[in-house]
Amino acid sequence: MQTYNIDEKGYYGNYGGAYVPEILYSTVENLREQYLPIIESEEFRREYHHLLRDYVGRPSPLYLAHRLSAKYGCKIYLKREDLNHTGAHKINNALGQILLAKKMGKTRIIAETGAGQHGVATATACALMNLPCRVYMGATDVERQHVNVERMRMLGAEVFPVQSGNRTLKDATNEAIRDWCCHPADTFYIIGSTVGPHPYPDMVARLQSVISEEIKLQLQQKEGRDYPDWLIACVGGGSNAAGTIYHYIDDERVRIALAEAGGLGLETSTTAASLQIGTVGILHGSRIKVMQTDDGQIVEPYSISAGLDYPGTGPIHCHLHETGRAKVLAINDDQALQAAFELTRLEGIIPALESSHALAMLPKLQFKSDDVVVLTVSGRGDKDLSTYLQHKDDINYNAI
Ligand SMILES: *Cc1c(COP(=O)(O)O)cnc(C)c1O
Repeated sequence: MQTYNIDEKGYYGNYGGAYVPEILYSTVENLREQYLPIIESEEFRREYHHLLRDYVGRPSPLYLAHRLSAKYGCKIYLKREDLNHTGAHKINNALGQILLAKKMGKTRIIAETGAGQHGVATATACALMNLPCRVYMGATDVERQHVNVERMRMLGAEVFPVQSGNRTLKDATNEAIRDWCCHPADTFYIIGSTVGPHPYPDMVARLQSVISEEIKLQLQQKEGRDYPDWLIACVGGGSNAAGTIYHYIDDERVRIALAEAGGLGLETSTTAASLQIGTVGILHGSRIKVMQTDDGQIVEPYSISAGLDYPGTGPIHCHLHETGRAKVLAINDDQALQAAFELTRLEGIIPALESSHALAMLPKLQFKSDDVVVLTVSGRGDKDLSTYLQHKDDINYNAI
């Protein structure tokens, strides 16, 4: 049977691997040897699930969205990651990696962040575990995302503004890798998505797999069968999508639809749709689809949604896209905005802009009336309110 899972060398088909500088080789190798025995151990599982339940507030509800279902003529369940502590799925991963760091005897944490969501999740985990934390963030993003910068500082993290390149997420990641090279022995690098060198994509996917583990149980209770007909999620680096599909990846009864950020449109160069317009390259330690020029310079991505604004996509989804296992569509800014207002007016839930890209797939897919659809709402929209308000006059309220 074909499997879409990782192989023993750290590849998903043609994608993945660990392309790291010599100086990090033994650190990454050490992590590769230790991550599975630790996260599969009874002790880790107990501590991790205790935190997920009592600190994060899991299981997150699986909510049958009645009015949305009526509109699209099928049964739509929302997996409510927006209700987690800190407002998104990222905390699942940050807590898992910090427990791993502690078990490996690391005493210092670093992270990269774009919009600041992963930075806030990591700073939260570090406050909880009393570990020093430095978050690398592009100087442009530090200005754009001021509230999250203040949250991280209040939590006790040091936010380090990165001045190189375009001063956004890619540059912050480069700087975090540089720091890691200088302090490989005592420092644990908490990566925020299913990107980076092996074992990160697999490790992050496993830590987020609690999402599909819960979906199975919740569907069994609500539908009398433990699988849906469709799974829908948005993809930046790919972690909420990887968690959503983890236990269904080889189950061909379940169709997978992924939304990447189209920005102003695939045909413009103002996009972040790296699965569809990217070419194969190495970025941040992994072979993936990257937005790049002919001579391999990274093209700055664009999306209205900061969390989807990354010039590549993790290896898991590159493989799912290439094999046709997942249907991937680019959702443009205006479509995501319309979908955000639609969910807000139909269900009283203001989604994160990233999640709105997943919601905007609903009108583009063909459902049968008895289809069971599970769509992951990766985060809540509080952080995006000013963007939503800026665009409230562009919304077609008659179409809702
Ligand atoms: C960061 C973020 C994303 C995108 O990251 P993935 O790793 O692709 O999940 C999506 N939604 C929210 C709310 C985020 O904060």
